Amino acid sequence: MKLDAESVTKSRIGVLDKGFLELTDYCADDLSVVNAARVSLHKESEEFSEKDSGLIRFLMREHHGTPFEHGYFRFRVKAPLFVFREWHRHRIGHSYNEWSARYSTITPEFYIPDVVLTQVGKPGQYTFEMADEEVAQTLRKRLEDFYNVAYECYEEALRNGVAKQQARCFLPVGTYSEMIWSVNPRSLMHFLSLRNSDQAQMEIREYAKVAEAFFRDIMPVTAEAFIENNRTSP
Ligand SMILES: Cc1cc2nc3c(=O)[nH]c(=O)nc-3n(C[C@H](O)[C@H](O)[C@H](O)COP(=O)(O)OP(=O)(O)OC[C@H]3O[C@@H](n4cnc5c(N)ncnc54)[C@H](O)[C@@H]3O)c2cc1C
Repeated sequence: MKLDAESVTKSRIGVLDKGFLELTDYCADDLSVVNAARVSLHKESEEFSEKDSGLIRFLMREHHGTPFEHGYFRFRVKAPLFVFREWHRHRIGHSYNEWSARYSTITPEFYIPDVVLTQVGKPGQYTFEMADEEVAQTLRKRLEDFYNVAYECYEEALRNGVAKQQARCFLPVGTYSEMIWSVNPRSLMHFLSLRNSDQAQMEIREYAKVAEAFFRDIMPVTAEAFIENNRTSP
């Protein structure tokens, strides 16, 4: 995905069957990284130069991480609950606010996987392969039936006067939720190294791929240095 600077904000990219990742705002660029580093010599650049690319690569390689913390990307995310559960494990440099199932009624939107996988091997060494179409179809049908029953139970509990905070026990982890996610560039790189990786679960990886495309568009030199640095955050 390549977005021009004009269209980069308010860009909502569809992910999975009903989700999205939307960049709603950002304050980040390659220049702010070099200026954060140069303040130590009481210097500042107005325009980004070739020399600055070298400085970014040096900072990345030598693990001088703090100059990459002066910025943020703010996203609106719609994803299944089990994806958020993995996402919220990322604590440092991330801020989250999520749709509350205590205060509002959750809408019946559930994840039905388009790609269904089987796992082969031992824990820690699994490889994942596409399931037979018959297995995939059965899973999708059973999920649909299960989600319908779960949501009927949820609505019935609400009708009976059960508080939303307890009625939500009926909502399965495939239920879609929404959150606002803000993250600084250094922490975003750490997230991408773990979640846009072969080892990550396919579903969160789909979101991480889109987040990485936004990152590349906004901080191209930093993104290149991150890749050169073995996709390791400084
Ligand atoms: C493929 C994969 C499989 C996973 N499987 C499991 C699993 O089975 N069970 C499970 O519980 N989790 C699992 N996780 C989640 C994982 O353990 C991390 O919680 C998650 O990846 C966030 O990483 P992090 O702690 O480095 O990130 P952040 O929370 O953003 O922390 C960033 C960095 O800050 C430092 N830091 C943060 N907190 C502390 C602290 N308290 N003490 C010292 N240093 C700190 C560390 O250097 C850390 O890398 C998995 C993650 C992945 C990617």
